[in-house]
Amino acid sequence: MVNLNNLHPHVKKQAEKLEVNANKRLTKYSMKITHGFRSFAEQNALYAQGRTKKGSKVTNAKGGQSMHNFGLAIDICLITPDGKKAVWDTKSDFDKDGKADWMEVVEEAKKLGFAWGGDWKGFYDAPHFEMTGGLTLAQLQAGKRPVFKDVEVESGFSKQVIDKVTTKPKPPVKPAPVKSYSLPTGVYREGDKGKEVKQIQEALDKLNFKLGKIDSHWGQHTTDAMRRFQSVYCNPVDGIYGKNSRAAMLKQLNK
Ligand SMILES: [Zn+2]
Repeated sequence: MVNLNNLHPHVKKQAEKLEVNANKRLTKYSMKITHGFRSFAEQNALYAQGRTKKGSKVTNAKGGQSMHNFGLAIDICLITPDGKKAVWDTKSDFDKDGKADWMEVVEEAKKLGFAWGGDWKGFYDAPHFEMTGGLTLAQLQAGKRPVFKDVEVESGFSKQVIDKVTTKPKPPVKPAPVKSYSLPTGVYREGDKGKEVKQIQEALDKLNFKLGKIDSHWGQHTTDAMRRFQSVYCNPVDGIYGKNSRAAMLKQLNK
């Protein structure tokens, strides 16, 4: 018996009812669920069959393109009376009640709210039944999940079970600078004073090149701090603030 636990709880409940109801009607052969939930990886492996791998094609759906990937579909087969063989005969009336056994299952499935893959014009898929709650594949891929009228608790239907649909990668977003620091553009050196010198002193201090008092006067300590900064981050190491020092300091400040 296939594990139905990863199906949507409502679909699981209806699938279990289908097995009971269908098998009440079928008296010789029985009906069995062969597939329920499939992960994207399992779906991709199935898609490869008959394409890049041996075998005949069984699906047109890649991972994320099948209702099985969202826990909303089941596949069925009939089992011979001895219980040994699976058959996919949709025409035979094995129990001689005037209706093909397969179509009896279809009838029961539709009563429970399933849509049948055998009704599809494009890809006729007789073993397949699904229940989408009115959602399209695109909506499911976008993360919507169906809500069925009689749903009790759906918390058990863990979102982790369903793989994330990989969408086109977004263009990288430029990280916004946390704070934009401004530093003067000119050349400053020992002996200079003013608010530009203060800005440079504050920047050096912020970058942990301590210079004592931030006093807007460029003295020996500021030159030393500037030189230490340059020896780590830029050239020349001359203790004079200029274009290179400014660029290197801004780069460190905006990290
Ligand atoms: Zn299917």
